[in-house]
Formats: sequence, structure tokens, C-alpha cells
Amino acid sequence: CGIVGYTGRSSALLILLEALERLEYRGYDSSGVAIIEKGKLFVEKKVGKIRELVRSLWGKTLEGTTGIGHTRWATHGGVCELNAHPHIDFTGEFALVHNGIIENYMELKEFLRSKGVEYKSETDTEAIVHLVSLHYKGDLLQAVMSTLPYLKGAYAFAVITTKEPNRIVAVRYGSPLVVGLGEDGNMIASDIPALLPLTRKVIPLDDGEVVDVTPEGVVIYDTEGNVRVKDPITVTWDI
Ligand code: GLU
Repeated sequence: CGIVGYTGRSSALLILLEALERLEYRGYDSSGVAIIEKGKLFVEKKVGKIRELVRSLWGKTLEGTTGIGHTRWATHGGVCELNAHPHIDFTGEFALVHNGIIENYMELKEFLRSKGVEYKSETDTEAIVHLVSLHYKGDLLQAVMSTLPYLKGAYAFAVITTKEPNRIVAVRYGSPLVVGLGEDGNMIASDIPALLPLTRKVIPLDDGEVVDVTPEGVVIYDTEGNVRVKDPITVTWDI
């Protein structure tokens, strides 16, 4: 029910955990993070409160500066660690968090099976990460763009890959998503409160927008791949 992502010069873990706590008000049943750590995906997921996730990561130092996080409100598949996000693709190199519903996931699951890709979870979400991986030809943005025509439903998602460790690509299509522009890095999140510890410079995305986030900046596209120039707003309120 909430997604967050950070790529920058700081260690991502604490930034992501704080951001997730700031989305708790949206309601959730489980949570998780994925961080690119020394070229590999580090993934931790827990059922229950974010406190459980924090506890399982207590004392852990991660250097990874790119990661995504999620609070899940289950719609497809029971509440368990396997179904919690982030979801990982069949190569183990892509991680994805998702809000909302992929209506045609049963068809997508069949399609993936025909390509030899076996599903691990009961979620609609898992289809997206396999599709992005199947479409990957060296450019995460291109892989996401090629995946979008397959998806029916209302959603927002964010994906990272060890193949391009300083990059997050995220999409808004019926579920909210905002971008935060910081001094030492950039973020995406479902809502503004998650961004405020990092920055007050925010770009709310519109439906049908795709954002390419790197530590240096963000570029926003429509689903045809045309660049959209959008000015950030400055948030003056606090929570
Ligand atoms: N449909 C997805 C699931 O059940 C995402 C739910 C959400 O928005 O948290 O895992």
C-alpha cells in the first residue's frame, strides 16, 4: 500500500525505513526492503509492523546507496513473507515493489509459464518483475516501457536492478506517486510525508508518467517515451 525508493550518495537502508514509517498511516499487513549491496540484491521482508522489519535489521550495516521499500495491503495472495514485497525476478537481478492491482495477472502468469518462468508467490505483482526482466536489453527504462502494454489495472511500481546499480525506474498509473529531489540523492514515494526527511522539493507525478531516477537527477516521461518537463513544488508544511 506504500512504496518508497532512494538512490544517492547515502546508505539507503535507514532512509527507506524512515520513509516506510511515514507511510504507516496508509495501512498495511507486511513490509520489506531491497537494497543493491555490493552488486547483489539484499532483501528483507516481515509480516506485521515495520518495527518487526527494523528489529530483524537491527545492527545491520549496509553500504548500498540504492534501494526500494514497501508496505503491503494484500489484495492477491495471503499475508506471508513470500507474498510480501519486494518481489525478485527469475534471474535474481531485479527487485520490484507495487501498489494496486494487476487485473490480468492470471493471463500473464500463463504467458510467463510458456516462456519457462515459474512463479514463486501468489501475488499479481510478481508478473511485473518477471516481465521487466524478460524485456531487459541493457536499459531499465526501456525494459519498463516495453512491459507497460502488458499490464491491465491501476498501479504504481518501482524497480531496481543489479545490472544498473544507481537507478530506479518507477511508474504511476492509477496509484499515487511523488518524486523528491534531495541534495545527496533522489527519492520516489507514494506520498509526500515519506520524502520530507530528505527534501522539500517535490514533483507529484500524473497518471501515465514514468520516472527515471539516478543520484544526479530525474527525468520524467509519458508512456510513449516523450520527456515531460515539470517544475518541482516546495512543500512548506510538516507532519
Ligand atoms: N496487489 C499487490 C499485492 O497484493 C499489492 C497490494 C498493495 O497495494 O499493497 O501484493
